[in-house]
Order: sequence, then C-alpha cells, then structure tokens
Amino acid sequence: MSRVYNFSAGPSMLPIEVLERAQKEMLDCNGSGQSVMEMSHRSKEYQAIIDKTEATLRKIMGIPENYKVLFLQGGASTQFAMVPLNFGTKNKKADYVTTGVWSKKAMAEAKRYITVNEVASSADKTFSYIPELDKSMFSDDADYVHITYNNTIYGTRYTSVPETKAPIVADMSSMICSEVVDVNKFGMIYAGAQKNMGPAGVTIVIVRDDMIGQANEITPTMLNYTTHIENGSMFNTPPTYGIYICGLICEWIDGMGGVAAMQKVNEEKAKMLYEYLDNSSMFKGTVVPKDRSLMNVPFITGNDELDAKFVAESKAAGFVNIKGHRSVGGMRASIYNAMPIEGVKALIDFMKKFEMENK
Ligand SMILES: *Cc1c(COP(=O)(O)O)cnc(C)c1O
Repeated sequence: MSRVYNFSAGPSMLPIEVLERAQKEMLDCNGSGQSVMEMSHRSKEYQAIIDKTEATLRKIMGIPENYKVLFLQGGASTQFAMVPLNFGTKNKKADYVTTGVWSKKAMAEAKRYITVNEVASSADKTFSYIPELDKSMFSDDADYVHITYNNTIYGTRYTSVPETKAPIVADMSSMICSEVVDVNKFGMIYAGAQKNMGPAGVTIVIVRDDMIGQANEITPTMLNYTTHIENGSMFNTPPTYGIYICGLICEWIDGMGGVAAMQKVNEEKAKMLYEYLDNSSMFKGTVVPKDRSLMNVPFITGNDELDAKFVAESKAAGFVNIKGHRSVGGMRASIYNAMPIEGVKALIDFMKKFEMENK
C-alpha cells in the first residue's frame, strides 16, 4: 500500500487511524450487523453515534452548555445565507470583515437580506494580512459581526478574537479544532467538515442560545437553526456517515491529548515550514509573519514556470494537491491536523532537493 502526502485544502487528508477504524467497522459497526451507512437515522444505534459525536466535540472544544451543536448539510456556503436570515433581524444590519474570497462570498450573500457594513478589508494587498481591528470601528447597531477566522486560500489567520460590540459569527472551516479557541467569545461558529473535521457533506454549527429564535419570517424551514435545534439535527435525514466520521476524528483528537496538544504539533509543523521558506533563496511565503496561518501555507518562487515544474515534480514524488488556489497562483501546502509532522519534514527535504537541482 502506498499512501501519498496530501496537501489539499479540502477535502483533505484524514488520520490513518480513523480510516482504519472506519474500515474495521465498515460491515458491522458496534455489533449492529450493519454499516453506519445502512442504519436508519432514527435507530437507537445511530442515535448513540450522533450523541457521542456531539459529546466528544463538546469535550475537545470546551463548548459550554448554553451553546447548541448542529450537524447540517449544504457546506459553509449555506451558512453564508443562514447567518443573515437567522441573526440579522433586529436592526437588519451586520458588520463584515473582508479577508478573502470566502468572507467576500459571505458578505455578498448577506447583502441579499440585510444592510452590510464592511468594517475593514485586506483586499489592497491580495489578502496577505489581517486588518488591524479596534472596537470603535464596529457599528453600534449591528446585529452581529462576521469574520473568517482562517483564510484557507490566502493563508492568513486571526491570532486573537477581535473586540466587537455585537456577537461574533466566525467561519472556522479551515481551522476548527486545530488550535484552542474560547467558544464563549463567539455568538456562533460554523465550519464545513471537509478541511479539518471529516469528509465533505457535514457542516458543524455551534450557536449560543440567545442568538436563536428570531429568524426572518421568509427563512425557509431548512435554513432556520430552530428547525434543526428542535429536531436534534434530524429534521430530515442528516449526513449520517459523515457525522460518524466526524465523531471518529473527535475521538482521535481526544486521544492525541485534545485540541491543545494538536495545536502544539500544528505550531511545530508550521514553524518548520515557515522557517524553511524564510531562509530559502528560491521559495518564499506570501503572508506577513504575524498573521500566518497554521493550516494553509501559500508560497511562490516568483517564476510561474518554476512553480509549475515544482508542482509537477512534487506530485510525482508523492506530495499531491500542492498547487495554489487559482486566485493566488504558486503553491499552497495545507497542513491540517491529519498531516503528520513527517509529511512536512519530507516536503521540506523535497523542496531543498528541488532548490539544489534548479539553481
Ligand atoms: C472551504 C471553505 C468554505 C466553503 O465551504 P463549502 O463547504 O464548500 O461551502 C467557506 N469558508 C472557508 C473558510 C473555507 O475554507
């Protein structure tokens, strides 16, 4: 068996231990005589799986009791509409910080329903930094503030939670469970699972109790958080297998020592790669050092042909999906929780070799 090191931004690498456990439980999960894929979502066997997934996620993220946890469909992109429909109803206004493609898309969707105030943007420098934010910059009458905590495409991240006037809604798709966050500082957190938490098809939503129950009356039933809260994420058939895999990932993180332990490894992996980039005469990072992501590391040679050669040769050597997003070019190494430190070391060795051969 030969497995590649997959640097894809999403869907992305999953821990081998999780895949092996899923393989072992494929035909007969917990003595049920069935695969999780075949179970009725209304069965007690499946209820135990979703309950355990939620309990383990609550444990590893330290989610307080006054927050609900939901497992939804439609990806993070559906949240772009659910957020303004559910939370933008008091003053029908919200503050958005623009730090990349995803925050722009979130803002564009919100504009269909509410008035949007763009508090700050880093578009002037191709989103290579996180704007300085001060409490005075936020509106007095915003219903919420939307931020993208880690910018998957550009490789930036918030290193602290901004001080705001309204509750913060954060898109954590590409960093959930990669570092410790204080859930109490957020009104709502959402994340598509396919970056750091599982397979595509599940969206994790963590929402504080006081945020809900005031949805816009035009909100479709399926886009109303209350619908899913009242039905334990089972108003309709949930993405049962994906939720099960998310649960196995949560157990894996717990077994590794929790999110704090993951963060330590992630910091070590990122530091190694950034240090190499800072000292390389061929490759360089594209993000200001203070805002560098622990999860997505974009880099360039400054020469498109050389970039393409590197992408092709790295693929042949077993480092796949390292091509940068089409809007940035160059390369991007996504080094989520499941990427072992050996994968990052092997990539650096390969980059050193490439540098020598292409002087
Ligand atoms: C990938 C990504 C999205 C889009 O996720 P979908 O699940 O494909 O809708 C949104 N926000 C961020 C930060 C992402 O990384």
